[in-house]
Amino acid sequence: MHELSVAQSIVDIVLQHLPKEDHVAVKSVGLRLGEMAGIVPDSLEFCFSAITQGTPLEGAALEIEHVPLTAHCNDCGVDGNIEPTLFACPSCGGRSLAILSGREMQVKDIEVEESEGIR
Ligand SMILES: [Zn+2]
Repeated sequence: MHELSVAQSIVDIVLQHLPKEDHVAVKSVGLRLGEMAGIVPDSLEFCFSAITQGTPLEGAALEIEHVPLTAHCNDCGVDGNIEPTLFACPSCGGRSLAILSGREMQVKDIEVEESEGIR
């Protein structure tokens, strides 16, 4: 499953950014997810909560910011929002499009709190 490997890479990124010595728990992970990234948010959230059991990320919320698909039309020069299912210029209907945004999958921010675990 594609979302599982994506969820795993998110966990890896977050763990790399956690302070090693302190006992911290991750409260939430902000994620920028493009409409064209090819990821189903529900599946991603499911995989994320499954693989974070027993890690500092357990119970963390995955806050997904959806990035709309935008593109520059090579035919009429318009920059605009593109309907992913149509993938055509909203102005002239052309299909010669250069994607500007909508393919990103990026960890945006990580919110942590001190864990009340073993001291
Ligand atoms: Zn156009």
